[in-house]
Amino acid sequence: MQYIIYVGGAVIAVVIIGGIIWFVSSKRTKHKSAAGNTKLASSLRDEQTKNSIILNSIEDGVVLIDDQGIIRLFNPGAANITGWKRDDAEGLDWKSVFKFADSKGEPVAEDKSPFTHAMRSGQTVRDNNANLMAKSGSTIATSFSVSPILDNNQVTGLVGVFRDVSEERQEENQRAEFISTASHEMRTPVAAIEGYLSLSLNDKVATIDDRAKEYLEKAHAATKHLGELFQDLLTSAKAEDGRLTNHPEAVELGAFMEQLTSDLHFAAQKKNLVLEFIIGNSNVIDATAGANDKVVRPLYYAFADPDRLREVITNLFDNACKYTDEGKITLGLTGNDTVAQIYVKDTGHGIPPEDIPHLFQKFYRVDNSATRTIGGTGLGLFICRKIIELYHGRIWVESTLNKGSTFYINLPRMSAQQAEAVSAQMKTAQDTNTAEAAPAVTPQVTPPTPTISTPNVS
Ligand code: ADP
Repeated sequence: MQYIIYVGGAVIAVVIIGGIIWFVSSKRTKHKSAAGNTKLASSLRDEQTKNSIILNSIEDGVVLIDDQGIIRLFNPGAANITGWKRDDAEGLDWKSVFKFADSKGEPVAEDKSPFTHAMRSGQTVRDNNANLMAKSGSTIATSFSVSPILDNNQVTGLVGVFRDVSEERQEENQRAEFISTASHEMRTPVAAIEGYLSLSLNDKVATIDDRAKEYLEKAHAATKHLGELFQDLLTSAKAEDGRLTNHPEAVELGAFMEQLTSDLHFAAQKKNLVLEFIIGNSNVIDATAGANDKVVRPLYYAFADPDRLREVITNLFDNACKYTDEGKITLGLTGNDTVAQIYVKDTGHGIPPEDIPHLFQKFYRVDNSATRTIGGTGLGLFICRKIIELYHGRIWVESTLNKGSTFYINLPRMSAQQAEAVSAQMKTAQDTNTAEAAPAVTPQVTPPTPTISTPNVS
């Protein structure tokens, strides 16, 4: 299946490049000699014929949009998927033909579409979870790739390639549903087994000989691991289908991180690791030494659920502890006008460069002698990524083998005024809901547009 997608992608790329060369060349040929023109024209006609055969035969939808947003090419694949006839679509503004919906079927604003993103960013935009509204009004699960046509770094048009992925999406949903139900159902008996094993190991409750104790300790550790696996499976299934409970609010990250550092310092101490918290570029707060000097520091606000954020940073911290034998773990907070950056740095084993691109995928674990002996599910970083993406953030790692790793999180930074406005709105909404349990509130203030790309924010 993937092979077909790659081949399809390559063919389409050739067609698109061919088309663009033809488009650009057709302008230049005006200045050439008549004889040259005839030869060139015939070879271009050949190219055109080849291109149109490919464009007419492939199942994928291909659309070419000019700099005014007008559809200039709409292949039969596009017509099949959207229900628009080629002659009707060509000449129309793309916004009349390509309308998107969210997972609940509600219309998505035009500026969130892959076409607008590609037009604005000048970069290829892929969206495997797009829901396209067909001409008939029905919603089709689609996967989109929209590439800009650049001329001197100016976007002069867009090429969109898209396919109907309804079947794949349905299978994915069934798989996720199964994993979610199975892990939910299995958590309860596993918790019961773990509880009884704990009781058996408790001297005050049960009397067992040393050999039985050794076996039960192993069974207890394995059951604990199984329980964590089910919990992670459930969380990742929820993260994938958008069911993760999420109550975002304006969080002042400095105070939040300081509290978290102090909550985590026992775990670091247990492994004889120093834990410190750095805010800005130089204000160091040594959590293990218990220092709590008040320093003047910038306030970094972000719009996120503090419980979810705690889950992410604790996960990164747990990994830092797990994969560091000696030295220091640093939690840090820095940023610029638009970005708040959190980082978790360790002086541990480091990660081989070839593993880094896969680290945030589901079930990915580095396979070496060091990690084989350390338990884990390979789901932690996947869950972290999913949560950070909920807040339009980005997470990545930089690492040097045998020296250590730094995990970075960039979140869109809110100004103090925005944070205040959001908090005030949420309070008003809660006050008006006093009688009932307050539901999650989505503030009317739009968080700042993320500018999240540079790993090092100075
Ligand atoms: P796991 O449950 O295996 O820790 P994660 O998704 O949290 O799963 O991490 C995936 C893999 O990334 C780990 O198996 C480990 O090999 C590697 N890894 C994560 N954090 C670190 C770190 N701080 N130092 C070294 N390797 C790490």
